[in-house]
Amino acid sequence: MSKNYVDEIIEMLNDKYSNQPEFIQAATEVLDSLRPVIEENEDIYRRDALLERLVEPDRQITFRVPWIDRNGNAHVNTGYRVQFNNSIGPYKGGLRLHPSVNISIIKFLGFEQIFKNSLTGLPIGGAKGGSDFDPKGKTDREIMSFCKNFMLELYKYIGQDTDVPAGDIGTGAREIGYMFGAYKRIRRTHEGVLTGKGLAYGGSLARTEATGYGLLYLTEEMLRCNGFNVAGKTAVVSGSGNVAIYAMEKAQQLGIKVLTCSDSNGWVYDPEGIDVAAVKEIKEKNRARLTEYKKYRPGSEYHEGRGVWKIKADIALPCATQNELHIDDAKQLVANGCIAVAEGANMPTTADAVKYLQENGVLLAPAKAANAGGVATSALEMSQNSERLNWTFEEVDAKLKDIMVNIFHNMSDAAKKYGMEKNYVAGANIAGFEKVLAAMMEQGVC
Ligand code: NDP
Repeated sequence: MSKNYVDEIIEMLNDKYSNQPEFIQAATEVLDSLRPVIEENEDIYRRDALLERLVEPDRQITFRVPWIDRNGNAHVNTGYRVQFNNSIGPYKGGLRLHPSVNISIIKFLGFEQIFKNSLTGLPIGGAKGGSDFDPKGKTDREIMSFCKNFMLELYKYIGQDTDVPAGDIGTGAREIGYMFGAYKRIRRTHEGVLTGKGLAYGGSLARTEATGYGLLYLTEEMLRCNGFNVAGKTAVVSGSGNVAIYAMEKAQQLGIKVLTCSDSNGWVYDPEGIDVAAVKEIKEKNRARLTEYKKYRPGSEYHEGRGVWKIKADIALPCATQNELHIDDAKQLVANGCIAVAEGANMPTTADAVKYLQENGVLLAPAKAANAGGVATSALEMSQNSERLNWTFEEVDAKLKDIMVNIFHNMSDAAKKYGMEKNYVAGANIAGFEKVLAAMMEQGVC
């Protein structure tokens, strides 16, 4: 008997990219849940090499990024841009600046981005980029030197109708500003080539809040449709960056008490509920560590290392980084009576932990749906740039809420359609894939 098409592709990826574990993890997870869709028309898809084309990026660019430090010494980092799939719109996806960045991480993120962007219902393709540059501890001038040099190469491959990068870990408004300045200078054009821009030069209101707020809009709808009210619930959050801060802010606005947050050194437990204004001051303004939190809230606890998932809560919101919620954490959450996990970070839950949570009846909203509010609002920023108009905060926020509620229903309906009710992981993959599949088939083999 000939091998199943999906198995064949997973095997091929394992042979060809054995040195790219994150990419294989992401691709396997997606392909596994697409089985029922692929099996409906397996011969046609195989003939057109649909899956081979889906798992191979359109192009991947790596380049040298030299920059000068405060003492006048030169350093070199590696820059990446993986343009994965533009079947439904221009490439779109963030730029990550973190020492852990490598081609496997960028490919995993770019691959996920295809389906996430499709799920938003907006016309944007999938891409990701970044560098192994570590912004931590760098001066403003060092960051500027890096960003200008990064754009000196990246500008060749991007444009408002081609590829529109955005922020991600380590790339916030400051970095986007320096990159935009360089692009504008090189290309002599003021266009919406990046999103997450400052409000003074084409940014969108509510973009800063969008991923965290969107995460909570989707969580609220998921709980409502499963008979729960979010008001009065407790939550544990990891991270204290852009996603975590605005997730905590919206959670509190919805009446949820947030008990924890973390950074890469340690975590905070505040039984009175996290003081979001204090976290904003520590992280956004002072760019300091969470050890400072106790100064604002003497009744809180600070612990080194990881540990937020040990605290009993109704909802868990991983908002830091990939693979940060392991099987032991999943067991602890279930033992503590957790009813829902909604992923703010990309792929924060390991595959075995996802399985365990689902088998134990925990509602799991996967990243590509739950954190799609950021990229959706980036697409709204692109629309505003094209119109040369600025929408109000309320307009953008209302559109964001609609998009997140729609995403929830699309993934829920797709799961139901294929007999996997409440399996939102499969539902999100399928709902995201269906539109990309239609576009790829209609555009022929290319
Ligand atoms: P930030 O850089 O603003 O914050 C990241 C947070 O996670 C920080 O608190 C950081 O701690 C912590 N962190 C980073 N790496 C690790 C690690 N290896 N171990 C433990 N903690 C870590 O990033 P964002 O909030 O923007 O992004 C967080 C996640 O959300 C990422 O997975 C990103 O891809 C995803 N995402 C972000 C979107 C956005 O709009 N920002 C959109 C969609 C997804 P420290 O302060 O010590 O660095």
